[in-house]
Amino acid sequence: MAGGNWTLGIESTAHTFSFGLVNSSGIPFPSMSDTVKPLEGGIHPREAADHHRDLSAVLFHKILKSQNLNPKDIGAVAYSQGPGLGPCLRIGASVARTISSMLDVPLIGVNHCVAHIEIGRQQCDCEDPVLLYVSGGNTQVIAKLQGKYRVLGETLDIGIGNMLDKFARQQGIPFPGGPVIEKHALEFIQNNPNATLEGLELPYPVRGMDLAFSGILTAAQRLIEKGHSLGSVCWSLQEHAFAACVEVAERALAHSGKTELLLGGGVACNNRIREMCNLMAKDRESTSHAPPRMYCIDNGTMIARLGYIELNNGRKTSLGSSGINQYLRTDDTLVTWQ
Ligand code: AMP
Ligand code: MG
Repeated sequence: MAGGNWTLGIESTAHTFSFGLVNSSGIPFPSMSDTVKPLEGGIHPREAADHHRDLSAVLFHKILKSQNLNPKDIGAVAYSQGPGLGPCLRIGASVARTISSMLDVPLIGVNHCVAHIEIGRQQCDCEDPVLLYVSGGNTQVIAKLQGKYRVLGETLDIGIGNMLDKFARQQGIPFPGGPVIEKHALEFIQNNPNATLEGLELPYPVRGMDLAFSGILTAAQRLIEKGHSLGSVCWSLQEHAFAACVEVAERALAHSGKTELLLGGGVACNNRIREMCNLMAKDRESTSHAPPRMYCIDNGTMIARLGYIELNNGRKTSLGSSGINQYLRTDDTLVTWQ
């Protein structure tokens, strides 16, 4: 078997195609990424896959150059095996198979959701956290119980990020809408420090330990149609949606007896949800952690990191079992490394 001692990670579950690296000690290095930004409408899986296909060589060269590496310095190739959009996952898996076969180095398919947890644990030095995973397609509250990361609560319909992006799109704001909503909400509350949520009533997205965001999306759009300002609706939408996530996370902490909360996923870039998590954790004499933003959004480095961990635990993926799984669940993966 040939190869050096860097692990390459390839992320392609949805809108973002990203290559990342960890070194021989599993230390992460920044990814090289490119995200599809449709001019109008949502992400089309085939178009996103074409984008990924077109960029694979460029991003591979860029990631090697970022650390002055040659292909022969790569000792293993990790990729997102699922969950995600089929056509996008297939491009990432094909590129990973090609590089691993060409270099004659091990291939390892990993669980995207678990990768978010592991990069967060590494970056924030968390031992055994409850993860609040808030991304475009996923919204889950996860904790490790009996050898697996268990989903204690999750969205029953769309991910919180998709909800924010859809609301933004209805206002003519292009993808990704989350950061723009954050900006409008912040400006609104700075200009109206005494604003209350009353008057801007929105459905509360909690369903037991689960969440559901399609009702709040429709209701927020109605508020706009009734003439409420964009800033007031953005603020109110964030307050309701984030409070719901934080409430479920708090109950997960209470039930599991854990004392660390870890944020992950693109929506975890938002300062307001970070602040709400800090307040809740402080109240419970617990701690709240959020990785640097480049490791919250989808990134190849987290895939490299989990690949590195799993390879060191003796798992690798044969070509025959390297097919993707769009519906891979967080709790399908046995956590053997802790
Ligand atoms: P991911 O699916 O994890 O790559 O994250 C992408 C999602 O994160 C998109 O839905 C974005 O709108 C959302 N996002 C990124 N930054 C922010 C932010 N500052 N506030 C809210 N949502 C955000
Ligand atoms: Mg993600």
